[in-house]
Amino acid sequence: MDMPNPNLSRDASLKHLADPRLQREFAYLNGRWQAADDGSVIAVTNPATGAVLGHVPNMKEGETHRAVEAAEEAFPAWRRLLPQERAAKLRAWHEAIIANREDLALIMTLEQGKPLAEARGEIDYAASFVEWFAEEAKRVNGEVIAGHLPGRSMSVRREPIGVVAAVTPWNFPSAMITRKAAAALAAGCPVIVRPASETPFSALALAELAERAGMPAGVFSVITGSRAIVGELCANPAVRAISFTGSTDVGRILLRQSADTVKRMAMELGGHAPFMLFPDMELDEGVNGAIAAKFQTSGQDCLAANRIYVHADRYEAFLERFADAMGELNVGDGLDPDTDIGPLMNESAIAKCEAHVQDALAKGARLIRGGKRHQKGGLFFEPTLLADVTPGMAISHEETFGPVAAVTRFDSEAELIAQMNHPEYGLIAYLYTNDHSRICRLTDALEFGMVAVNCVNVTGHPIPFGGVKQSGLGREGGRWGLDEFTDYKYVCAAYRAA
Ligand code: NAP
Repeated sequence: MDMPNPNLSRDASLKHLADPRLQREFAYLNGRWQAADDGSVIAVTNPATGAVLGHVPNMKEGETHRAVEAAEEAFPAWRRLLPQERAAKLRAWHEAIIANREDLALIMTLEQGKPLAEARGEIDYAASFVEWFAEEAKRVNGEVIAGHLPGRSMSVRREPIGVVAAVTPWNFPSAMITRKAAAALAAGCPVIVRPASETPFSALALAELAERAGMPAGVFSVITGSRAIVGELCANPAVRAISFTGSTDVGRILLRQSADTVKRMAMELGGHAPFMLFPDMELDEGVNGAIAAKFQTSGQDCLAANRIYVHADRYEAFLERFADAMGELNVGDGLDPDTDIGPLMNESAIAKCEAHVQDALAKGARLIRGGKRHQKGGLFFEPTLLADVTPGMAISHEETFGPVAAVTRFDSEAELIAQMNHPEYGLIAYLYTNDHSRICRLTDALEFGMVAVNCVNVTGHPIPFGGVKQSGLGREGGRWGLDEFTDYKYVCAAYRAA
């Protein structure tokens, strides 16, 4: 628990919110804004300045237990609403998010650090899930089975699974909430969100807008505070599904903590994306793609390219142009319109970047740019380019989650195929080539949930987002996103012949 640190000045930027009521310093449970039972709070800071933005309640098991009870109480009425009535609530929430886009983006940049333009993009992305699932709410259809027994009518219904808990990370503080919550709400489930401790204000602003949209009490709650909340959500038998986005290590903890109550576990976990560039591709296109795949969200992205493989024929030319393009990237406060790369989230993120750079250099990598904390100080790290990276280096198998690009030379497709899959991770792979047969061969051989061919921005509301192996369980978005929050009920009814 933190108490307010008197040595930190309060960040004044939130005063620029057009609607100051969007910065809520209470949790939203059972339709009421509440403090922690013991009155304790957590300070939320701006990673660009270190200034305190405000405080949120440091809740624990007791408050969580009551939030689950309230959600259980809200469940029967919410599931009984006609689909179009649930859709109307979601649609109103979507409209409220869009109407407050600028404020939501400002809150996100202040607590997360990403450039304001990226934050606006995330608000649009977050809102798109609410709109999509408002429409899908009307299509949670079952099936009639062509039966195998005489005199029986057989059907399968899809029913809401029950109370859903969403545990979310700080790198996409709004979209990771709506991608889960909108699907669960559409299916007829109440949702309790436990946001990352670094970025609770984005979550609480979404709760404020859900309340304004007329979401009934207990149907959408946001609880802030200690990790004991997550433990209670996992252990509580009334929570029928946990939807988690975060690291694979923490995903494993949640799976273990939930074992005794055998619930649905939807997991969006870590990634270690390869970016593969063949010499038949126009070099600038490959460089632009690699820059976007590496540096969006300051590299703090589960989809970030952690390994960049470039064919030997283009290797040195690629390094030169990539380094030049990196030179154009401005590091700074996300509020500055010229900023491309904001601060990292915390000290451990900086330490991870430093460790990966040191390990790679000790094992023979070449440092072409960057490699250390940025002269701006604080949580800023220099965009870094490492060449001649080999499989034995930590960066080749551990997620970096920072602006460090690791480039490896390959000579043949066979050599690349031997390296491109990861024993643990399988979220996304980027392939840049114009050879159709190669695209088909490699797409077959790639062990990933998503493959991006000659492009980087591939996510959105209609697609099944998710990974294979230890990158996750289940999918979010599209019609698949509802599967995590519905159960099948098979009904077999005997009838007499006339
Ligand atoms: P994280 O450390 O796993 O934290 C995620 C959430 O789990 C936070 O709410 C965190 O709370 C909570 N948590 C952490 N340790 C816990 C514990 N021992 N018990 C209970 N809860 C715990 O992940 P992160 O650093 O926020 O996010 C980065 C990771 O998320 C990366 O691995 C990234 O690849 C992954 N990610 C995946 C996707 C995807 O869709 N596949 C999307 C985005 C991010 P606190 O804030 O209190 O620590």
